[in-house]
Amino acid sequence: MNRPGLDESGASLIAERVRTAALIESLSARLAAVIEATADAASDDEHDPEGTTLAVERGQLVAQIDRSRVRLEEIDAALERLGRGAYGRCETCGEPIDPERLEVLPAARQCVRCAARNPTRRW
Ligand SMILES: [Zn+2]
Repeated sequence: MNRPGLDESGASLIAERVRTAALIESLSARLAAVIEATADAASDDEHDPEGTTLAVERGQLVAQIDRSRVRLEEIDAALERLGRGAYGRCETCGEPIDPERLEVLPAARQCVRCAARNPTRRW
């Protein structure tokens, strides 16, 4: 990823992407371990409290992995916008997004005003 035009925004997006990918990897490893432990627990009494704890953790891990994957997609979309020079502009109203907002949410698609009007979209 060494093409021209990749400035600070690109660097922070790529850093964010690396962090998110690493997080997904560790969550997935944890999930695999939980699934394995669940299989062991299932061979015991089905009312084993450990089995319940594992099921809860499994659900949480799946939800976390889902959220992280969505985040990764948002980051990739932001990198793509950066590549075509559309990065940092609100997708809804076309106004520049506040640099402070981009610092906190490098993959933000919308300015603060539009994001507030469109609460179904987190970014
Ligand atoms: Zn806007």
